[in-house]
Amino acid sequence: MRFDVITLFPEMLDVLSAHGITRRAHEEGRWTIRAWNPRDFTTDNHRTVDDRPFGGGPGMVMMAEPLALAVQAARSAQEAAGVGCAKVLAMAPTGAPLTDARVRAWAAYKASGLVLVCGRYEGIDQRFLDQCVDEEVSIGDFVLSGGEIAAMAVIDAVVRHLPGSLKDASAQDESFAQGLLDGPYFTRPENWRGAQVPSPLLSGHHAQIARWRREQALRRTLAYRPELIEAARTRGQLSRQDEVVLKLAGEELRQVAQTSSEQSGDA
Ligand code: SAM
Repeated sequence: MRFDVITLFPEMLDVLSAHGITRRAHEEGRWTIRAWNPRDFTTDNHRTVDDRPFGGGPGMVMMAEPLALAVQAARSAQEAAGVGCAKVLAMAPTGAPLTDARVRAWAAYKASGLVLVCGRYEGIDQRFLDQCVDEEVSIGDFVLSGGEIAAMAVIDAVVRHLPGSLKDASAQDESFAQGLLDGPYFTRPENWRGAQVPSPLLSGHHAQIARWRREQALRRTLAYRPELIEAARTRGQLSRQDEVVLKLAGEELRQVAQTSSEQSGDA
């Protein structure tokens, strides 16, 4: 898969091909990346890419034209390389949240290219977003200084889903793959500072281990992301045994909440 990233700080992207799973997949030729600096698409001596916002207010806004020309160059380069551009994505805290479903959908364009646009300053001229971008992507309810870290999060998550990037079946067991959060992990030693590894994991009994892991995933998802449980229920992904676990876990959570509210009321 090919990624073309529009950024004022191209060197920030180097870390992706320098470390870990993304590095290996890059070395194996599963993905390539090219950065495009909007400053290279300006016509004035100062290579201006930003200007003051109409209507006043603090900060600067990225101008539409250098970004549009950079996207056009990236798309042309993808076409010349025979991959074709599947989507242009802009990083924006105001965009739709980045989810596993969106990542998988983009990874399915594995024979094509994605163009990712990184904003800076107060953001990007809305007319560029309206005319040149297919989807806006937020990586969370917080504001970063620029879109590069968000673009790297998108690329990392997509690369993990490219065929062959992960050497085992681990993607199938990861959070969100089955609609739930992943459960806890433990490794040696069996006893660490008095804390024991849960006994089912030491049993060597595959069915018992699988049941324990499922229960932990259900409990964790109910505690932290109850809306995922609701969604899994709607999709018919919960068994009768799952529902028994969830009922018990729900009662325990209510009990804990009640105890802590009584204690804070006492205080
Ligand atoms: N004025 C904007 C707002 O309040 O929504 C924030 C602009 S931010 C300082 C500059 C750039 O960082 C954005 O254009 C975007 O590309 C990127 N960015 C910041 N937070 C982000 C997030 N949570 N997800 C994706 N991109 C983000």
